Amino acid sequence: MELLYKSTRGGESGVPASRAILEGLAKDGGLFVPEKIPALDVSLKELSGMSYQETAYQVMKLFLTDFTEEELRKCIAGAYDGKFDTEVIAPLAKVEDAYYLELFHGATIAFKDMALSILPHLMTTAAKKNQIRNEIVILTATSGDTGKAALAGFADVPGTRIIVFYPKNGVSPIQEKQMVTQKGDNTLVVGIHGNFDDAQSGVKAIFGDRALAEELDRAGFQFSSANSINIGRLVPQVVYYVYAYAKLLENGELSDGEPMNVVVPTGNFGNILAAYYAKLMGVPIAKLICASNENKVLYDFFQTGEYDRNRPFILTTSPSMDILISSNLERLIYRIAGEDAGEDVKLMDALSREGKYRITGDMQEQLKDFRGYYATEEECAKQIARVYSDTGYVLDPHTAVASCAYEKYRSETGDGTKTVIASTASPYKFTRSVMEAVDKEKYGRMSDFELVDCLEEISGTPVPAAIEEIRTAPVRHRTVCEPEDMKQTVKGFLGIE
Ligand SMILES: *Cc1c(COP(=O)(O)O)cnc(C)c1O
Repeated sequence: MELLYKSTRGGESGVPASRAILEGLAKDGGLFVPEKIPALDVSLKELSGMSYQETAYQVMKLFLTDFTEEELRKCIAGAYDGKFDTEVIAPLAKVEDAYYLELFHGATIAFKDMALSILPHLMTTAAKKNQIRNEIVILTATSGDTGKAALAGFADVPGTRIIVFYPKNGVSPIQEKQMVTQKGDNTLVVGIHGNFDDAQSGVKAIFGDRALAEELDRAGFQFSSANSINIGRLVPQVVYYVYAYAKLLENGELSDGEPMNVVVPTGNFGNILAAYYAKLMGVPIAKLICASNENKVLYDFFQTGEYDRNRPFILTTSPSMDILISSNLERLIYRIAGEDAGEDVKLMDALSREGKYRITGDMQEQLKDFRGYYATEEECAKQIARVYSDTGYVLDPHTAVASCAYEKYRSETGDGTKTVIASTASPYKFTRSVMEAVDKEKYGRMSDFELVDCLEEISGTPVPAAIEEIRTAPVRHRTVCEPEDMKQTVKGFLGIE
């Protein structure tokens, strides 16, 4: 049965998956959602014996119904291969009483690799299926991790170009170095004088610019997105929640049907939304715990039913969660509004006009499986130090925020349900923050790469290739611009002045 997609704002419907992936954002500015969330058609017991790749096929075939089996299997095989430093792709580490689902074993050592290693394959397959002749220009705003993962995925992929905008002063030194050393003739990396929300809003405005789209088309280009607004990002992220449950079942940590909770360090709300989709597909997920850093707009939303971005933007040690406009929340809003596009448009208009909106009591009622928690900078650093000294396991700051949220939830509710914590980045990506959390006196004055070596010593985990690569790599990207000049920068790169 074919699963089709529609826009949360009502302007598009009956769209096959491959076209939704190519478009990225719907033409009316909405996000594509499946007309219904498919149910798993194999049992959890059957899934428990499967590899990551096979699980990916079983999940993704239900969402991407216009891809043939051969196409989809080829995309999966091309994505989840030796680029990952472990055959199991997403291992679970049991630390204290929680299971850390390590999503950082891919090429750029953050969880964005889970989806961005397959998106280029899905995108080029979709382009072929739809007889696209234009070159596809991937436009991406990044809070630090999406950028590098998308660059790694799309660099030198024929028929594509990729442009990444990142907040010049809002990413970690390692994140910046990873991006500005990116190779590939089809890549452009631009720092903007602004924060992630400025970058994301700028990209959304460029997507919505009809005149520009026509100009591009005449020059043989069309835009698409590698951000988590693209359904081709979201679907591969559902896979690892199914896989985590199945592996816990296989290892006897869970019995068939026993509920599990998940805790997700959240920014743009893509990762936790994928967990929610897994639940709707039939994985026995009980509570979805949304963990925020000091930019706790989502925590407040789950507490009060009001989403309010009117507040200072705080730069934290978990930069990939420094976000005040969580794009993917729109998909959840649409769902709890009973798939009423009119209601969704009303709330999203209020968000762009006044920076806030309030949902109805009825909608709030449907969020009862979600919980919001947040961790301050101090709590996050303390958690890194405590978990390290008690167990030897080193958390990155994003995962540490989730780990704090988990402990707060447990002590507040006494809920003893087995819990998976999404571990979204390798500590090597945030070496300075991690090492300073462990011992500020000792490590505070060392250089970034000295810290890398110290981290290797204290953690006993070898330095990942992604870090070795950038030690000596030359900087290839130096472009910096104001948020209002993003469009001109894009045109310049494409040679359409
Ligand atoms: C992107 C990112 C997040 C936030 O994920 P969302 O899907 O945007 O909510 C958390 N941690 C890390 C390390 C990330 O790169």
